[in-house]
Amino acid sequence: MKRYLICPECAYTTANRRRKLCEYCRSELLGQCPICKKPIREERAIYCKDCGTKLRISYVPIQ
Ligand SMILES: [Zn+2]
Ligand SMILES: [Zn+2]
Repeated sequence: MKRYLICPECAYTTANRRRKLCEYCRSELLGQCPICKKPIREERAIYCKDCGTKLRISYVPIQ
């Protein structure tokens, strides 16, 4: 199954596991839930599917 890295501050998502920082806002990317450590499997994830923790502010495209 695919895993994603998401930016907690903006809509940026990547499947490139080597990337550490958001291309747009330079925030550190999240590759897993900080609470339950489950990998992020949805490109547009906002909440963790397993524990409900909010992973990012929103999925609003960058203007
Ligand atoms: Zn970002
Ligand atoms: Zn979780």
